[in-house]
Amino acid sequence: MRVFNFAAGPATMPLEVLEEARAELTDWRGSGMSVMEVSHRGKAFVACAEEAEIRLRELLAVPRGYQVLFLQGGATAQFAAVPLNLAAAEAAADYLNTGAWSKKAIAEAKGQLARVNVIADEAASKYTTVPGAAALRVSPGAAYLHYTPNETIGGVEFPYVPDTGDVPLVADMSSTLLSRPIAVQKFGVIYAGAQKNIGPAGLTVVIVRDELLGRARRGTPAVWDYRQMGGEGSMLNTPPTFAWYMAGLVFKWLQRLGGLPEIAVRNEAKAQLLYGAIDASGFYANPVARECRSWMNVPFTLAEPELDSSFLTQARDAGLVNLEGHRSVGGMRASIYNAMPLEGVQALVAFMREFERRHG
Ligand code: PMP
Repeated sequence: MRVFNFAAGPATMPLEVLEEARAELTDWRGSGMSVMEVSHRGKAFVACAEEAEIRLRELLAVPRGYQVLFLQGGATAQFAAVPLNLAAAEAAADYLNTGAWSKKAIAEAKGQLARVNVIADEAASKYTTVPGAAALRVSPGAAYLHYTPNETIGGVEFPYVPDTGDVPLVADMSSTLLSRPIAVQKFGVIYAGAQKNIGPAGLTVVIVRDELLGRARRGTPAVWDYRQMGGEGSMLNTPPTFAWYMAGLVFKWLQRLGGLPEIAVRNEAKAQLLYGAIDASGFYANPVARECRSWMNVPFTLAEPELDSSFLTQARDAGLVNLEGHRSVGGMRASIYNAMPLEGVQALVAFMREFERRHG
């Protein structure tokens, strides 16, 4: 029996995609082999990889003049790859600090750059807010501005895209990419680990504006050099073929549903249902300012933390799994990515109401 899996990543996958993969697992496209057993340089896999890229470009309406890369190393590798590709060691870059993942990106950048300007820091609100759009002042000469549009742990999501003028905007979209339409042309670099809305862990999508290619500093490892990887179609070395193939199936599934405008409607409805239930109860609480609550990751607490473990056990018995909050913050967190059906959120809300009735 399938459960409703609220994990933050690796996360639930669309059942249709898993079934499609299962159906062709041992004999992919008449090859007599699994897709994970064929050469990445063979005609069949190259076609599969190209098809995935085309679908991703269609979904995001990526304009001309951008490379779409399929890399490894996760978003964490990009924390270092971004400064290596976009800035000299003696340069400075701007960062927004809105929570745990911003902090990790900042810490890594500090090892690669002479100066990291944290031009906004939401510590005062305990990372339950985002900086106001009008308050952002990009530093003169900054090589780029980096931010985290959706903080997976804190459940904070920017309701706007920062305006950085000519300074390239870099976004860690790990936990929001493909959840709604975005204006790719506003960004210099977008990156995302796959294990939330894209596919299995092990694949990292990087979308980079062509004019930012070729700036990598000397000594940048070839696998992290956007220009070199782009020049080789992300096949400078062996790519994560199975994850790439699975991502292609996810993109096809999203297109069948109606693309990002349709998934956005569904995601907003799921989020409203869950936040509505939390806000209407005196037992559950979400600390995030309403205007920047994440559609993807919904942290919440119980009025009596000593009930946390019964909540989790009973939820698991009801087929609702992986609801514990991140180990750094505790409480609960429901990640409701694209592949979480509305029925999953309805089941969670019904369980929460019943738990409150019995224990509240
Ligand atoms: N950034 C964000 C926003 C994330 O949610 C995560 C993973 N949860 C990471 C970065 C790190 O990603 P990875 O594990 O793929 O390196």
